[in-house]
Amino acid sequence: MTTATKNQQTNRQTSQQAKPVESKQQQSKKSNKKTSHSDLRLDDDNYYSKDTDWFWQSPTWFKKFLNCEAEALAELKGDYIPDFDQTALLAGNYLHSYFESKEAHEEFLENHPEILAKTGKNKGKLKSNYLIADKAIECLETDPAFNELYQGDKEVIVTGELFGVKWKGKIDCLNLERGYFIDLKTTAKLDKKYWNNKEHTWESFVAAYNYQLQMWVYQQLIKQTFGVVCQPYIVAVSKEKVPDKAIVSIPDYRMEEAKREIEMRQNHIELVKTGQIRPNFCGKCDYCKEHKLLSSIIPMDQLII
Ligand SMILES: [Zn+2]
Repeated sequence: MTTATKNQQTNRQTSQQAKPVESKQQQSKKSNKKTSHSDLRLDDDNYYSKDTDWFWQSPTWFKKFLNCEAEALAELKGDYIPDFDQTALLAGNYLHSYFESKEAHEEFLENHPEILAKTGKNKGKLKSNYLIADKAIECLETDPAFNELYQGDKEVIVTGELFGVKWKGKIDCLNLERGYFIDLKTTAKLDKKYWNNKEHTWESFVAAYNYQLQMWVYQQLIKQTFGVVCQPYIVAVSKEKVPDKAIVSIPDYRMEEAKREIEMRQNHIELVKTGQIRPNFCGKCDYCKEHKLLSSIIPMDQLII
């Protein structure tokens, strides 16, 4: 799951297959008791905490740093809280918890009463903004192929090391026996085109949100945790009045791109995180705009670059 909102799931690694092999990282933890971080262990309660975000890199935070180092660092330090509409995030978590388990869904509803109407004819039921999530759920759960595919352990925490840096991940659905994992994504429209200003090309929502990076990381962490190379799939469902759905694969060249991006950019991001170099400002995000001072004059054509 790609959200920063703590979902407070309980550990549901029930099957025999999802018992991690002891990684080098875990072995070294036993022999290194000097720092408090060496005792840090990931579980469902601390997975989304800032403590573990500092210690383990994750696709969500890595992408935040790729987008804007200054904003990401300020947010990680707790100095800045991005102001964005929580509706999409909560609707996504609502759907995830539904497909995780009955208990997880009930727990989500208990922890997020704000998604239920307090007054009016819908009192006690989902607010209209969230009804679309129910449609998306229905769209998937009535599909035999989805029910056949979405089998395995849910919300499985995995860890590992990528090019010398510790990473963490949480897998929506992991099927080690059949050798695949699935990430559920809700998106506006499956074929919506996003303009990539750097590459000067249109791209899909998967590329626009760099989900291939998340998929490559998860594949590596699953391999390091369980010793199995799994095929990544995204099950995408749209947030349209009549939802659309698809099972999406990630071609090898996209996985390679993701690997290279991490290899090329990670060292710099680590230096920013540890305060050894100053973060770059993207100049476009809310954080940058809030901290912007006029210092130069730009030609009109540069406004849209
Ligand atoms: Zn910025």
